[in-house]
Amino acid sequence: MNTDSFRKQAHEVVDWIADYFEHIEEYPVKSPAKPGEIMEHLPDTPPEKAEPFDQIMKDFNEKIIPGITHWQHPRFMAYFPANNSGPSILGEMLMSALGAQCMSWQTSPAATELEERVMEWLRGMIGLPESFTGVIQDTASTATLCSLLMAREQVSNFRINEQGFSQNAEYAIYCSEEAHSSIEKAIKIAGFGRKALRKIPVDENFALIPSKLREAIITDLKNGVVPACVVAALGTTGSTAVDPLDEIGDICEEYDIWYHIDAAFSGTALLLPEKRWMSKGVEKADTFVFNPHKWMFTNFDCSAFYVKDPEALVRTFEILPEYLKTKEGSQVNNYRDWGIQLGRRFRALKLWFVIRQFGVEGLQQKIRKHIKMTEQLVKKIDQSIDFDRLAPVPVNTICFRYHPQDVKEEELNSLNKQLLHQLQDSGFVYLTHTKLNGQFAIRIVIGQTNVEERHVQEVWDFIQEKAGMPGGKVG
Ligand code: PLP
Repeated sequence: MNTDSFRKQAHEVVDWIADYFEHIEEYPVKSPAKPGEIMEHLPDTPPEKAEPFDQIMKDFNEKIIPGITHWQHPRFMAYFPANNSGPSILGEMLMSALGAQCMSWQTSPAATELEERVMEWLRGMIGLPESFTGVIQDTASTATLCSLLMAREQVSNFRINEQGFSQNAEYAIYCSEEAHSSIEKAIKIAGFGRKALRKIPVDENFALIPSKLREAIITDLKNGVVPACVVAALGTTGSTAVDPLDEIGDICEEYDIWYHIDAAFSGTALLLPEKRWMSKGVEKADTFVFNPHKWMFTNFDCSAFYVKDPEALVRTFEILPEYLKTKEGSQVNNYRDWGIQLGRRFRALKLWFVIRQFGVEGLQQKIRKHIKMTEQLVKKIDQSIDFDRLAPVPVNTICFRYHPQDVKEEELNSLNKQLLHQLQDSGFVYLTHTKLNGQFAIRIVIGQTNVEERHVQEVWDFIQEKAGMPGGKVG
C-alpha cells in the first residue's frame, strides 16, 4: 500500500467510524449471531492473492458487523462498560501508526516519560497520595497478578523467585466472597494454589466484614499458615460494594500483610471529591488498581496500577539479558521491568488525549451525570411495587429484580432469568446479571460515553413492558 492509497482508505475508515457513531442506535446492542454463524461465512483458507480494500470493507460490513455486540451503544448497560471516546480513538490511531514498542526508555523516551507524567496526573485526579507511583498495565487482572507476585516475593524475602515454592510453606490470600474472579486466577497463576484462597463473608451491603478477616488470619497463624496478601474491593463486580478499606488497612498493618485494592471499575468515581469517602484508608495499601478502560472514556486496554514501592515491583520482575542492556541504566524507568510482558504498547498516548480533550472538569461532569441518572432510576425502581432493589447503589450500578406481588419467592429466580433473556434477545438493550444472597439480580450500569436520560427512560419503560406490566407476566 502506498501512502496515496493509505490516505484514501484511511479517510474512508474514519468516515466509517463517524457514521458508525452517528447511527449506532440503529444496531442491535447484543449481536443476534448464533454459535458458528460468523465462521460459516469466512473462507477456510487465506487468500493467495491480495484483495481490494473495498472488498474487505464490504465483508467487514456484511460478515463481521453482524457478529459484533455494540459496546459503545448508549443502551449497552451490561457487565461494566468498556467505553471509549473520540480523543481516545484518535490517540489509539496515532499509537498504532507509530507502532512503537515501548519496553525501555530508549525504545521511545516519550512513551516512558509521558506514562510517568500521565500516571502522576491521574494519581492527583483520583486523590491518591503521592506515595504511590503508577504504571500502565493491560488489565486489572494483570495488575492484581503483579501485586500478588510482589506479595509472594515480600513474604518469602524474594526466595520464591530464586528457588520456587518449598514443600512445607503454606500461604493464605484473603478477599471477600464478592471479590472478582481475577484474584482467584492470580492465586493459581502465582503458584499459591487455589487452596490458599480465603473468601471472607460480607455484610448486608456485600462489603467484607473486617472481624471475619481478622478471625481467618488468626486461625491461619495458629495453624502455621502464612498470611501473604489481602485484596479489598473498592467496588465489587456484582453490586459495586465498597469494602471498609481503612479498617482492612489497619488489620494488614497489625499483622504486616501485603495489601492490594481492586478499584477496577469504581475507581473512576474517585474523580469526584464527593465520592472519595470510598477510598478512605487507601494510603495504607501497598498497591491499587483502576481501569480507565472501563468508565473513563479510554478504550480498552488501559489499566492504572499504583505501587508504594516501585523498587519492590522492579525487583520482582527485573531480568536483564545482555541484549536488553541500555546505556541509561537505572537513570530512567524501563517499564519492561514493571510487569509481566517485555513488549509494551504506548497506552499513555490515548490517556493523554482523553485527559486533555475532556479536561478534568469534563470528565467529572460526565461521571456526575451518569451517577445522577442512576439515582433517578433508583428512585423509580424503589417506587415501583413490582420491582425490588437488591443492593445499595454507591455509584452507577443497580441490582434489581422483577417481583410481582402474586409470585412466590422460589419462582423469582427463574422468572427474572427469563426476563433477562428476553431483554437480551430483543437487541434493544443489553443487561446482564449476578446473584446476591442466592437471588437472581438483573444489573443495569449507566456508564456509556453518550448515554442520556432518554436512553435510561427508554430502557426502564422497556423492562416494564417486557415484564408484562401492568398486570401481566413475563412469557
Ligand atoms: N476487578 C473488578 C472489580 C472487576 O469488575 C473486573 C472486571 O469487570 C476486573 C477486576 C477485571 O478487569 P480486567 O478485564 O481489566 O482484567
